[in-house]
Amino acid sequence: MDIVLLGPPGSGKGTQANALIESRGMVQLSTGDMLREARISGTELGRQVAAIMDAGELVTDDIVNALIGQKLALGGDSEFIFDGFPRTLAQADALSDLLEQHGRRLDAVIELLIDPEELVARISNRVSCPNCGAVYNLHTMPPAREGYCDDCPDQKLAKRGDDNAESLNTRLLEYYRKTSPLIGYYHKAGVLRRVDSDRDIDSVSGEISAILDKSAA
Ligand code: AMP
Repeated sequence: MDIVLLGPPGSGKGTQANALIESRGMVQLSTGDMLREARISGTELGRQVAAIMDAGELVTDDIVNALIGQKLALGGDSEFIFDGFPRTLAQADALSDLLEQHGRRLDAVIELLIDPEELVARISNRVSCPNCGAVYNLHTMPPAREGYCDDCPDQKLAKRGDDNAESLNTRLLEYYRKTSPLIGYYHKAGVLRRVDSDRDIDSVSGEISAILDKSAA
């Protein structure tokens, strides 16, 4: 089963992907994580995308389509969660072609619904572990030891470079302008499922799991 998690920054895509990895052994394909890794390892791609990401704009479709194409080519039997991809209609078409080439199809697109004011609060309190990627919220889900990851010894938590007010504004605009048309696209395709993400993590992941069980039946 392959699925897309769709929603604005801060809607809980990464958190819900982690829950699905744990509960169902699915594999997360986050283009944001792939691009951040390219930056950390200092590749040509990383250098190319750094300024665009820090500004909160979208990198070109060709770049992210190629990243996803490489992962799908190695995909085998894995069940994929596309997180932060697709973000444009052109990416959605590319994903559909790529899945077809590999004999796969999208079973569900889960749209995470959230009040825009809640997004700002979530993102401004978000910190993550640069080592394992675990995400914490300083108010609602703080780490056991202030400033440090619960799972990685002595690893300091960090704020993402693009989690600031200016970049967030651009990221939200990019979402509403370029990504939200995917809601209609996937609704027409009959795979869109909407989930209220303005609740505790377990309630949201429970509802997503129930949707996936139904799709698989
Ligand atoms: P994310 O971690 O998904 O919020 O992505 C962080 C940043 O990476 C975004 O603000 C974009 O600059 C870039 N990015 C990630 N995924 C995509 C995508 N599918 N299309 C274009 N840009 C992307």
